[in-house]
Amino acid sequence: MPHFHTIVIGKGLVGSATAKYLSTDRSVALIGPDEPIDYTQASVFASHYDEARVQRVLGKDETWTRLNRDAVNAYRALEQQSGIQFHHPVGCLYVNPYGKDDYLNQQPSLSARLGLSVQQFPHVHELHHHFPNFHFPVDSVGIYETAPSGYIHPRKLIQAQVNLFQENKGAIISETVTRVEKKEELFHLFTLEGNHFSSQQVVVATGSFINQHQLLPQKLQLVTKSEVVLLVELSSQEAQSLADLPSLLYEINTPLIDGIYLIQPVQYPDGKYYLKMGANVPEDLFFERLEEIQHWFREADRSPYSNRLIEALQLLMPQLPIRNYQTKKCIISRTPHGRPYIGETPVRGWFVAGGCNGYSAMCSDAMGNVTAHLVREGTLPEGYAANAFELLFQP
Ligand SMILES: Cc1cc2nc3c(=O)[nH]c(=O)nc-3n(C[C@H](O)[C@H](O)[C@H](O)COP(=O)(O)OP(=O)(O)OC[C@H]3O[C@@H](n4cnc5c(N)ncnc54)[C@H](O)[C@@H]3O)c2cc1C
Repeated sequence: MPHFHTIVIGKGLVGSATAKYLSTDRSVALIGPDEPIDYTQASVFASHYDEARVQRVLGKDETWTRLNRDAVNAYRALEQQSGIQFHHPVGCLYVNPYGKDDYLNQQPSLSARLGLSVQQFPHVHELHHHFPNFHFPVDSVGIYETAPSGYIHPRKLIQAQVNLFQENKGAIISETVTRVEKKEELFHLFTLEGNHFSSQQVVVATGSFINQHQLLPQKLQLVTKSEVVLLVELSSQEAQSLADLPSLLYEINTPLIDGIYLIQPVQYPDGKYYLKMGANVPEDLFFERLEEIQHWFREADRSPYSNRLIEALQLLMPQLPIRNYQTKKCIISRTPHGRPYIGETPVRGWFVAGGCNGYSAMCSDAMGNVTAHLVREGTLPEGYAANAFELLFQP
């Protein structure tokens, strides 16, 4: 039975970062399946199967902002050391169409405390003047963050983390863990593929699958939901003409659509360019069991979503030519306190890193760093409140 000092379960954004940070001073295995080619054969899926994720620095609160700031500060070294470019600092625009909200109200003091510079757009005509590709309603206000905000490429970010992890002699095991047990001070991990591994410590970083299979001593409080994104195909010339388009977080909230995010056209593996837009819609599904999630990824009908997303995009970017488009399925999960989960379970040596809340791609490197610090030192790094990432278990 192969033995490691620490095993990280989940080869996603948070797990790969955690494994990289831990592998500098111990033997570490990173266990998780590769992205499935055939969804009917896969048992678990992920939130990162895509080419772009919004990157901003100013987060919802101080905890998210510190994570985002620390993550972007690490990008240049990570890109240089791994030889993989994943960060595109094209800027990020946040707009609320109904006027100032909590996020905008807390921005000046949070920016001052953390030394961030943010451009204010208190009137809609200024937004239209600076960002003529977007159309916003008359009461809209916003803020704009220049580089390093923009977008990141999640698959490439994982590959960069894995490259450095392997340079540190970390072991990659492309299997799905079905059960974790602690016996006589050792953790025993059993996989779907029929293998068995052991370790002194274990970190469960399986994203929206954290409560599935038997990976934890007790289930966490987590709301897990479907997410659908619209990909609008554009020609390479059209994509080029939108190369300055910042990433957008648009806080629209109507009975039909809520919380739009949008990223400029990016080249996808099929060689084509797609502008991406996503949002919450009333048809979103909520999942408890693994079978429900598997059904969602494998065969659920996503046609009810496309018209709604297209209508919203036409209002937001009236000049955008919408000819060919497709939708993609995804999954996210939310914690009750709205922040990530990073902590030790009641069983010593059994850790959790996850709780995406829809914002954890952009700060996954820092989440990995915080997790590695906790696993090594037993405390969070300086600057984070003791309960910043508190684990909340189901009764
Ligand atoms: C459509 C969409 C848009 C998003 N947009 C943004 C954005 O713009 N900016 C942003 O910051 N965030 C965004 N997010 C959220 C972001 O993608 C997630 O927060 C992030 O992927 C979470 O990272 P993670 O490592 O926790 O989970 P994941 O990236 O999902 O990785 C979890 C990994 O665990 C593995 N796994 C699961 N179960 C097991 C098991 N039993 N054994 C072994 N391995 C297992 C999976 O295979 C997967 O590789 C978006 C999410 C979605 C769905």
